[in-house]
Amino acid sequence: MYQAPRGTQDVLPEDVPYFAYVEEVASRFAALYAYEEIRTPTFEDSALFRRGTGETTDIVEKQMYSFTDKGNSDVTLRPEATPSIMRAYLQHGLHNRPQPLRLFQLVNCFRYDRPQAGRWREFRQLDVEAIGEDDPALDGELITLFWRFCEALGLQNLSLELNSIGDPACRPHYLDALRAHYEPHEEELCGDCRRRLVVNPLRLLDCKVPSCQPVADSAPPFFNHLCDACRDHFARLQAALADEGIPASLNGRLVRGLDYYTRTVFELFPAKVSAQAALGGGGRYDGLAEQLGGRHVPAVGFAAGIERLVLNLKDQNVVVPGGARPRVYVGHVGPKAEPMASEFARNLRSRGVSVIRAVGERSLRARLRHADSAGARWTAIFGDEELQNGTVCLRDMTAKEPATLPISQAIDQIIRADHGGTK
Ligand code: AMP
Repeated sequence: MYQAPRGTQDVLPEDVPYFAYVEEVASRFAALYAYEEIRTPTFEDSALFRRGTGETTDIVEKQMYSFTDKGNSDVTLRPEATPSIMRAYLQHGLHNRPQPLRLFQLVNCFRYDRPQAGRWREFRQLDVEAIGEDDPALDGELITLFWRFCEALGLQNLSLELNSIGDPACRPHYLDALRAHYEPHEEELCGDCRRRLVVNPLRLLDCKVPSCQPVADSAPPFFNHLCDACRDHFARLQAALADEGIPASLNGRLVRGLDYYTRTVFELFPAKVSAQAALGGGGRYDGLAEQLGGRHVPAVGFAAGIERLVLNLKDQNVVVPGGARPRVYVGHVGPKAEPMASEFARNLRSRGVSVIRAVGERSLRARLRHADSAGARWTAIFGDEELQNGTVCLRDMTAKEPATLPISQAIDQIIRADHGGTK
């Protein structure tokens, strides 16, 4: 027997309403804040992520689904959406449109990660980006959008963690301070951290290995080492969030796993916090466009994990709108009544009423049992008698007794009860 590949999942029909709900509210919230939808390819040149996401990130070093296609191109299934959106921005000259350009997309992403609760090798993200402006009001707008979106989903007890990781002016000074803090402890560090100390010291703060925690916890936070411009930017963002009534906890260890961030970084957590629990996160990436060979383009964005949101909706017993159920079960008993039953189904569907049409030959009892389990509001049965009289045996499943009615009257009754709608 074949199984779905490790780290992937089948979302069965009973779970689809959770995903559909999250994605519907996501699109609605994006529109509410005037973010337009963009759709970028599922795979890109591998170099885009090596340059964009960063050579020394876990994603690029360990997690990319890269392959050489039949034309010898080195391509990668997108591990995240931000580099694709920035590539599209540069490729199509979108700086010519009114700035900032506000964009979102709902995408599947691929990372060769260790599968565990809330961590998949294929997962979905809501990705929201605002490009072409460095005003911290925009960082505030994005965080607000994310927070209000989670609230609208019905999630309770959210918490926001916030940090600033400076810009090219202040980062070298901070990294000196960080190295100075870590160097006396080099012996106690994990292998990865000893390497990070040389190649990417900021990522030291991201380490989850227990023996590295005391030294990371006591490290000086970047927000105490910001240059004037970055300090002012961070203060204005905090003021914007306070205006919105969104509480932020400062977390000097929050650096995020990607290389392109400058200044603002943030993560949003649900009530039950575990190591894998962030609903999503993001930040400002003023250097990404240049890293990709383009002009200087300030930008800020976030990505929320759809599976994480669904997991938390279930944890918090949030009731989501159910999937559409068929309204009418239409069955025939005996082959002669089949055309009449089919005509009835055709008539209803042409008026927008959803119909589950019984197939095969079954007894009346079997038809009724099937109708019951199908969960339709109405059951319409056609047998020899109905065929002769031009009637249908119609049962409103919310009432008790079936009634034999002329066909047009049965249709009227169904339509009237449904208010003429397609619900
Ligand atoms: P990132 O793109 O790494 O900043 O992740 C943003 C959000 O995407 C995370 O907070 C998660 O909600 C979600 N996410 C990231 N990686 C995975 C994964 N492997 N499986 C499921 N969700 C993920």
